[in-house]
Amino acid sequence: MSISKILLYYKFTPIADPKAVMLWQRDLCESLNLKGRILISEHGINGTVGGNIDDCKRYIRKTRDYPGFTDMEFKWSEGGAEDFPKLSVKVRDEIVAFGVPGEIKVDENGVVGGGVHLKPEEVNELVDARGEEVVFFDGRNAMEAQIGKFRDAVVPEVDTTHDFIAEIESGKYDDLKDKPVVTYCTGGIRCEVLSSLMINRGFKEVYQLDGGIVRYGEKFGNRGLWEGSLYVFDKRMHLEFGEDHKQLGHCVRCDAGTNKFEHCVNEDTCRELVLMCPDCHENVATRHCGRPDCEQVAAQLAAAVD
Ligand SMILES: [Zn+2]
Ligand SMILES: [Zn+2]
Repeated sequence: MSISKILLYYKFTPIADPKAVMLWQRDLCESLNLKGRILISEHGINGTVGGNIDDCKRYIRKTRDYPGFTDMEFKWSEGGAEDFPKLSVKVRDEIVAFGVPGEIKVDENGVVGGGVHLKPEEVNELVDARGEEVVFFDGRNAMEAQIGKFRDAVVPEVDTTHDFIAEIESGKYDDLKDKPVVTYCTGGIRCEVLSSLMINRGFKEVYQLDGGIVRYGEKFGNRGLWEGSLYVFDKRMHLEFGEDHKQLGHCVRCDAGTNKFEHCVNEDTCRELVLMCPDCHENVATRHCGRPDCEQVAAQLAAAVD
């Protein structure tokens, strides 16, 4: 029997020839029958690949042959090649798209001028020592925080990572510039960049959660400062750190507690993902995001079924 796994990893390190690394990585993945998505820029690599567990191990060994990737950390997750439609290996301006490729500086130690890395237990120590002065700053898309976030976290109004620059330059968060701010995201990569962008814009004491919510949840489950479910970018859509988790999300139609995002029924013109309880999702008449045209489409579809 063969066991399948998914690998998640990133590394900020200078890459002199991203195209050469891209071609090497594509060959490597093809030879090992791995599928997934890898982005490479002159600032590093960001990837998620799945396949047979032995092939994944070979992939790690081979990838670490590249000098800049020698100490790259790989996270293992459940799943396999079948979780991805294909293999995609691309060169981009940024490995996380904040829209500021010229601003980020990277050396062999990672992003230059980023926030201080805190391990999960160090975050708790900071809160113990400084109390309510400490502000958690969500480095994800606002939607993700609907089902889980750090206690009393500030959730910026961003639909995509591209929106962060305008958001932190808007003045809305200027009162945080003199406070200890802990940025956090799913696995840590977004905060590597976000924390440096905040420091460049006058935030004086910025930290970043090392290993992201994933590592914090593994360490503290639901007994720490994290509350609710973690949004994930695969078929599962969300995961919890134990059954005793809080339910933060509510169905957009009936307000029942739920942590499941669903697509609006009006898929031709609406890409909206909304929280929906199983009952409201089951019924085509209520399976819409709330936009008037989507509600109308849902009603038409429901009438056609009857
Ligand atoms: Zn509902
Ligand atoms: Zn809709």
